Amino acid sequence: MTQQTKILRASLLATALTAADHGWHVFPLRPGRKVPALHGERACTGTGLCVSGHRKWEQRATTDPGRIRDAWSRAPFNVGIATGPSGLLVVDLDTPEHKGSSDAPDGAATFGALCERAGHAVPDTYRVRTASGGTHLYFATPPGIRMTNTQGSVAPSVDTRAWGGYVVAAGSATPAGTYEALCGPAAAPLPSWLQSILRPAPKRPQGPSMAVAGQSSRYADVALAEECRNVASAQVGEREAKLFRAARALGRFVAWGDLPRHVVEEALQVGGEAAGLSASECRSTLRSALDWSITHNQTRRATA
Ligand SMILES: [Zn+2]
Repeated sequence: MTQQTKILRASLLATALTAADHGWHVFPLRPGRKVPALHGERACTGTGLCVSGHRKWEQRATTDPGRIRDAWSRAPFNVGIATGPSGLLVVDLDTPEHKGSSDAPDGAATFGALCERAGHAVPDTYRVRTASGGTHLYFATPPGIRMTNTQGSVAPSVDTRAWGGYVVAAGSATPAGTYEALCGPAAAPLPSWLQSILRPAPKRPQGPSMAVAGQSSRYADVALAEECRNVASAQVGEREAKLFRAARALGRFVAWGDLPRHVVEEALQVGGEAAGLSASECRSTLRSALDWSITHNQTRRATA
């Protein structure tokens, strides 16, 4: 171990011990990476902690300082926090850059819009800036409630981690950058309004204009269904104009993260073709109207 590695190891050990001191259950991640450093089920030798059956990272995560010192004496492991046993729910706000597309919505913006619609400020709690420029918001879950992971169902580019999930703790680093705490480490209680959003939504009937995944706002869903009906029932001579207006009107919901772009495109494509427009006419009208509307509404929001 080089001197530099030793210093890094000591700092990551301190990170793990500090997290454990807050009651957060930690386990080692591979040095410089985000994947668990523990053996998988197939490589299990049935010894040590696995003597009565293999135990995965969620079960091995610990707050025991002795076990933590022992684990981090071996290598400069990054620190994983198993959210479930830690009584945490972490809201993960992703960035368009990380999703690899400038068209992808920004998690911070869509979560902000969700809070605004719910009539609440973005909750003030312990937050961590991730290596890819995203943000993790830590919340303490109410006792006796077993929350699970969600992916994009709260809002586009917003995931949550609870039982079955983990986060990389502040103080860890990957080649993409470091995980940094942005404030003191107190996780606020999970607001009840957010908890109610996280409850699984009842399944909705599926149809061409209602193929909306997750929980985008009901208002956006209704607008989408109405615009589709409007377009599908348009008469010759007004079809292009109606399709164009519908796409412009719905583009703001895409810009605000209420509807995924592909859903609007697919739904209006079906509507336009039902009215008798050709597939290629629909596609080019939709593309230009949505591009215009998304750009226009993003700018308006940014300067508001
Ligand atoms: Zn095992």
